[in-house]
Amino acid sequence: MTSKKKIAVMTSGGDSPGMNAVVRAVVRMAHHMDCDAYCVYEGYEGLVQGGNLIRKMPWDAVRGWLSEGGTLIGTARCLAFYERPGRLKAAKNMIINGIDALIICGGDGSLTGADKFRDEWPGLLKELVDAKELDAKDIEPYKHLNIVGLVGSIDNDMSGTDATIGCYSALARICEMVDYIEATASSHSRAFVIEVMGRHCGWLALMAGVATGADFVFIPEKPWGDNWQQEMCDLVEKHRNLGKRKTIVIIAEGAIDRNSNKITPVMVHDLLADKQGLALDTRITTLGHVQRGGTAVAYDRMLATLQGVEAVKAVLEATPETPTCFIAINENKITRVPLMEAVKETKEVATAIKAQDFNKAMGLRDTEFTDQYKSFMMTSGMAVDQSDLLPEKQRMKIGFVNVGAPAGGMNAALRAAVAYCRSRGHEPLAVHNGFAGFARHHGDKPLGAVRPFNWLEVDGWASKGGSEIGTNRELPGESGMEHIANLIEKYEFDALFLVGGFEAYHAVSQLRKARTDFPSLCIPMCLLPATISNNIPGTEYSLGSDTCLNELVHYCDKIKQSASATRRRVFVIETQGGRSGYVATLAGLGVGASAVYTPEEGISLDMLASDVRHLTDVFNHDRGQSRAGRLILVNEKASKVYNAKLIADIIRVEAHDRFESRDSIPGHVQQGGVPSPMDRCRAVRLAIKCIQHLENFAPGAHHYNKVKNDSMSACVIGIKGASVVFTPMDELEEKDTDWSNRRPKAAYWVGMKDVVDILGGRPSYPKPQ
Ligand code: ATP
Repeated sequence: MTSKKKIAVMTSGGDSPGMNAVVRAVVRMAHHMDCDAYCVYEGYEGLVQGGNLIRKMPWDAVRGWLSEGGTLIGTARCLAFYERPGRLKAAKNMIINGIDALIICGGDGSLTGADKFRDEWPGLLKELVDAKELDAKDIEPYKHLNIVGLVGSIDNDMSGTDATIGCYSALARICEMVDYIEATASSHSRAFVIEVMGRHCGWLALMAGVATGADFVFIPEKPWGDNWQQEMCDLVEKHRNLGKRKTIVIIAEGAIDRNSNKITPVMVHDLLADKQGLALDTRITTLGHVQRGGTAVAYDRMLATLQGVEAVKAVLEATPETPTCFIAINENKITRVPLMEAVKETKEVATAIKAQDFNKAMGLRDTEFTDQYKSFMMTSGMAVDQSDLLPEKQRMKIGFVNVGAPAGGMNAALRAAVAYCRSRGHEPLAVHNGFAGFARHHGDKPLGAVRPFNWLEVDGWASKGGSEIGTNRELPGESGMEHIANLIEKYEFDALFLVGGFEAYHAVSQLRKARTDFPSLCIPMCLLPATISNNIPGTEYSLGSDTCLNELVHYCDKIKQSASATRRRVFVIETQGGRSGYVATLAGLGVGASAVYTPEEGISLDMLASDVRHLTDVFNHDRGQSRAGRLILVNEKASKVYNAKLIADIIRVEAHDRFESRDSIPGHVQQGGVPSPMDRCRAVRLAIKCIQHLENFAPGAHHYNKVKNDSMSACVIGIKGASVVFTPMDELEEKDTDWSNRRPKAAYWVGMKDVVDILGGRPSYPKPQ
């Protein structure tokens, strides 16, 4: 009988939210793949010291870890591991414990150490045998060491991946703090200089600037010009002259000028407060370790879990020839990337910054970073730079419409699009309350449905939830297509920018199809999907879905905790999402649900019976070590009959008092209050891309044949796999849309449901017919 493979996981370097989710995923996936799971406590220190710091982890040991901040297996900076004797001890401890593969979650330092360890491995083993510390037969099964890295770092400073585990949680903390500060800044008409982490990487500062609509941002990769002091004061003065009551400047720890001199918050403070200059009442806030703290946001839990699962697969598939890799994410796609190339590139950024080659430093950052830098520059300007304006005949009058239910990021999208339009000379017009509002326009008496944007007002929308211009579910067909077409003609719109959910998608489809009857509809139109249900064909991500997942994850965490104070309890939580199980599944991934019921799969009595048997089993074996509740997530339309209450009732009856069960419906809470930073940042980036897309049609946006024959003239922007793409509406209508269920025909996330089931320990169950 061959013995089971042993996979160890370790966290190293600075802690970051999501590390516990990594450990949980690795431990459980290892068990699922019939391996033994181990944790190395205290980073490399644990590997060097061995003993009780390397522990076998049973399945149950990681219960409840998803909602814990920091790293429960500890992390440390280990000087001994920098030296070969330290690594020799580590190798011996690996062999003594029979570890076949090591998964390390840490920053670029930790992963460099890991690669060095793997590189030296044969030499270390030989040395151990030569020194008679181990027998040749001891090392025989461990000739090759498999190591896979996961990047756990709040800085998001690693090349080769768009996001590191923890960076979105840190960004969420920062934005929450900046939002609080903004309220007091505005009340007292103050300026705040906010310092955030990032010695060599400005990602946190830049994204916080984009998400909060800050006035000015300092990042190490792209210092301002030699006269940055004047540039900043001029811009702040312009903003103040336009009526802004608050000034927010975000500065990364590693901010420098073009000559590599450090720019400190005090320097910025003194400039803003200078009595001879702006004389603003200015305060400094250094956020410090608050940025590391707290539980991981939904995205980091998802990322950590999927990457942990992928890491286990990678170590099991690796051969001696496979170069050491780490698990990355590019836009929405989990990938394996050769480790040392990425580490080399990461180090090159710091070198380029040191050498004052800032173009190279920016060039080494990923596309999202550079896109967001441009977005920030375009949206924070407020004052229009004449050189950016398009020639008169290329400027467009663009109608902005929100359609469907509100979703986090709608306002941020409009703010960014308006700012971009201003910088190019376009005329953005708000169509209030969707097509229903538009249609209420009668004769020559406009009811105020179409209005220019007030820039000062719009500038405050970066972090606002809901829809400031109002939204409505009514389709243009319901409002009267002829009437809508006439209004588009009357207002001389050159293009339409729509932000919304499935109704917005349907609306674009209707408008496109009606072009044959109404030539005024032959203008370019582009949809930016925004719906918590994330059910729009053409994209794997819709604005608002991240905000919704965060709300759900917080809600479930609280509910789970309440169970620990009472009896053993199962909560059946009903989620929104229409006929798409995305939200239920992803929230299930983030909270470690015991089961998720989706409309795609449906619910049957056999399936419920299997799940009830499993829960009974779990509670029978759980002798009170873990009092945390179990969660089942059920989408509102998973079944016409089995709703959350009925499922909870069935479980309660079948539990025969061994445990309790309750239903819970968070309802509209799921739409979220303040949109998540991810939704806000993506809103900005995608909205600008939409207007740039529409811009391609000018001049000639009204050219009937040109527009009608170009399928890109009615399209949807989306994130698909590793790319941001525009897909023509006619192609999506035909091939990708399940119209009756209002969702894409194929959902990219269905595989994630298997991950929820595997990591939740759900046994295979009879699938509904
Ligand atoms: P963070 O992003 O939080 O700084 P990091 O992983 O880069 O995380 P480091 O302090 O650089 O943090 O590294 C963590 C540990 O990894 C070190 O204490 C050391 O034990 C090991 N390590 C780092 N670099 C190397 C190296 N070049 N050789 C061997 N071990 C290393």
